[in-house]
Amino acid sequence: MPLVLYNTATRRKEPFEPLDPERVGLYVCGPTVYDRAHIGNARAYVVFDLLYRLLREAYGQDHVRYVRNITDIEDKINAAARKNGEPISALTARTTAAFHQDLVALNTLPPDVEPRATEHIPQMIAMIERLIASGHAYVAAGNETAGHVLFSVGSDPDYGKFSRHSRDEMIAGARVEVAPYKRDPADFVLWKPSDEDLPGWDSPWGRGRPGWHIECSAMSEMHLGETFDIHGGGLDLVFPHHENEIAQSVYAHGGRPFVRFWVHNGLLTDAGAKMSKSVGNITTVRELLAEAPGEAIRLALMTAHYRDPLDWTNDRLRQAKQTLDRFYRALALPRDDVIERFGEAEEALCPVCEALDDDMNTPLALSELHDLAGAVNRASTDAERSALQSALETGGRLMGLLEQDPLGWLHGIAATDSARIDERIAARAATRHERRFAEADRIRAELAAEGIVLEDNPDGTTTWRRKD
Ligand code: AMP
Ligand code: ZN
Repeated sequence: MPLVLYNTATRRKEPFEPLDPERVGLYVCGPTVYDRAHIGNARAYVVFDLLYRLLREAYGQDHVRYVRNITDIEDKINAAARKNGEPISALTARTTAAFHQDLVALNTLPPDVEPRATEHIPQMIAMIERLIASGHAYVAAGNETAGHVLFSVGSDPDYGKFSRHSRDEMIAGARVEVAPYKRDPADFVLWKPSDEDLPGWDSPWGRGRPGWHIECSAMSEMHLGETFDIHGGGLDLVFPHHENEIAQSVYAHGGRPFVRFWVHNGLLTDAGAKMSKSVGNITTVRELLAEAPGEAIRLALMTAHYRDPLDWTNDRLRQAKQTLDRFYRALALPRDDVIERFGEAEEALCPVCEALDDDMNTPLALSELHDLAGAVNRASTDAERSALQSALETGGRLMGLLEQDPLGWLHGIAATDSARIDERIAARAATRHERRFAEADRIRAELAAEGIVLEDNPDGTTTWRRKD
């Protein structure tokens, strides 16, 4: 079955066919590097890592080019550097390194190209010049507004069609940018002047810096060409960022199509509210990594369909960890690859592949992996079990999971489990000492619920064992 993807441009699922199967292009909007990535950001990068893996599987790893940029020019960066009292380059270098660390912990593959905005200024200037020459951009008039270049939304009859935004919605979306130098309030900035204390580059319009949207148009053109296969990002980028990228790229390229498939991940929420720095409800990837293995975080992010909202809870993460424990337990059972029957393994794998090919249905794929783990446990012969284990492992790997040594994983949980249980026993001893018996009983009951039985010995010590 070919890969089917929901295309935001058409609002329907479509079979994916690349322009050229030997050069499949994927562009994903990367981070603005001024702070640690939160788990909502991580969702986007894990979703597109899965898509990258599926494309590599389908077309061969040398035939897919994944470009994910680093936005290292943006006013939020300037503000954060000023607040921290550090040079911008130090802030962006530190944040980029931290971002890479987080993504490695989540087992995402590095993109083939990771272009930085600061390294593509000439391409951005050239693109803006083409837009001015074709009548789709203008230099703002008036002394006090000198140095601003704007995209003229009125020159684009298709503007707003992609995001299906009405004119009122567009202006409301651009509200923060209503400014005297705009001919139309919906016009957006391509270039703006920089004071001495801000980063700036020489341009035909004076020393200045690019607007955010032109960065992605210029970097995707440079690394994937004028028309390419897939562009991804979070749903919050549909308007205005992607609407603006389309307007810029189409007119800078003489009207030729820009992106064939637009793929957007749904938003990760915290108690129902979008997780974002401006709301102030973020949990960083780094904080979560102190609580759980990266693989469990990755799996937790895949427990909802990528287009649906995903509410982040501790329970979701705990369950993801338990799922991995179960899968690794099945993989740790005796296995004999020599007698493995490959046809059977392939067949058992099919439902997982079909789920992933159907618009990356990860909840269904995970439930198929659960079925496989159950079948491994029930297998009546070594050959059958080995074939099913192979399918479970291959299916997991397609999703960037189950790449660790099963026994290593299981020993890891045994070690952390026993340290945690010892710590609970010590806490219970302390409460008993203080004659807070109800609290002591609560700890015993909690452990019992996990299948851990405590035995108080005559010498005052307590030992534990697992319930049979
Ligand atoms: P930013 O660094 O804010 O530009 O975001 C980087 C990526 O994370 C973009 O693709 C955003 O759409 C995505 N993103 C930001 N917040 C969330 C969220 N709460 N849930 C899912 N994706 C998000
Ligand atoms: Zn972008």
